[in-house]
Amino acid sequence: LSSKSEAFIEKENKYGAHNYHPLPVVLEKGEGVYVWDVDGKKYYDFLSAYSAVNQGHCHPKIVGAMVKQAQTLTLTSRAFYNDQLGPYEEFVTEYFGFDKVLPMNTGAEAVETALKICRKWAYEVKGIPENQAQIIVCENNFHGRTTTIISFSNDENARKSFGPFTAGFIKIPYDDIEALENALKSTNNIAGFLVEPIQGEAGVYVPADGYLAKAKALCEQYNALFIADEVQTGIARTGKLLAVHHENVQPDILILGKAISGGVYPVSAVLANNAVMNVIKPGQHGSTFGGNPVAAAVAIAALEVVRDENLSQNAAYLGVVLRTGLNEIASRNPLITLVRGKGLLNAIVINCDEDSDLAWDICMKFSEYGLLAKPTHGNKIRLAPPLVITETQIHECLGIIERALNDFR
Ligand code: PMP
Repeated sequence: LSSKSEAFIEKENKYGAHNYHPLPVVLEKGEGVYVWDVDGKKYYDFLSAYSAVNQGHCHPKIVGAMVKQAQTLTLTSRAFYNDQLGPYEEFVTEYFGFDKVLPMNTGAEAVETALKICRKWAYEVKGIPENQAQIIVCENNFHGRTTTIISFSNDENARKSFGPFTAGFIKIPYDDIEALENALKSTNNIAGFLVEPIQGEAGVYVPADGYLAKAKALCEQYNALFIADEVQTGIARTGKLLAVHHENVQPDILILGKAISGGVYPVSAVLANNAVMNVIKPGQHGSTFGGNPVAAAVAIAALEVVRDENLSQNAAYLGVVLRTGLNEIASRNPLITLVRGKGLLNAIVINCDEDSDLAWDICMKFSEYGLLAKPTHGNKIRLAPPLVITETQIHECLGIIERALNDFR
């Protein structure tokens, strides 16, 4: 580690709250699929800010839209209208096929917003008695870090000593249709079902084919809202614009974040049709920065890049190339026990316990050879490059991955 890097790391460790455990790499520049550290070393970014940088780092069209808008008008009070928001709202609702959008800033905020909308719909439209609504969630979920969201996490480290928690959630196993039907049948007070189409933070757990379509049909049958958290899976990451599109599902509430801005600016969104969204009235929800002119301009540019550069098709095609290559490596190297994923949201499972340091050491070796990734849940390494990556670059990265893994044989 260079003394330059060490100085930056020391500063963060001394003055920053210790709420992350980063790899010892200090980044200062990004372009497309690459990032550079403070010593000028270049890396492939295989984490993409947890799937926020789908369009590649510092995409000139998105950055250009941000700079132009930042020089004109950055923030108005939502006490007034602004000239960017309406056009963005029209664009984003047409893009995803909904009547209305509620703009927010971060993924967790958008999840909280969706939960509020779902509850209000349950009381005002479905007729569930006040304070009785239940929302079904899945085991091993990750939806963010706010107090209500961690109320239904089963990551003990994320929850312990942060209570008391928010009531009104029923947790069922993920990828288990029978469990969902039993929960829907268990009471008349079910307002909705909140689900990640692929569980990203849990280690890229892909449910069985048909799960999402069956879950949506059951929600319709029991008059509960199907709420898709596509913060990580959305915006072309899995090879379709939304992961639910693999099963032709249109959620009742769609939650987007991360790559809706290409990682350029914090933008999130909740989309729904009028019958659901119209339960929210003035004064019942909002955010100072939600729907600000810069966010609106950035999000339009970021979504145009997804469309104009065919990022869904690229992710679908290169995902197959990547998994094929990883499976070939696995056949030669028993350190990889499993390769899974969809599009360019993938993970390899390393042949070690969840509390072993091996996956961490492997990621350190990747970084030495010029590729950045990080373990999740101890023994899984997510591999999720920006979607602008090329086939030649994927092959180069497969070479780096195999070379690093071979060092551990
Ligand atoms: N939902 C999902 C599925 C996520 O993966 C994440 C972030 N990893 C969030 C919500 C939270 O987003 P944010 O960090 O922007 O609050």
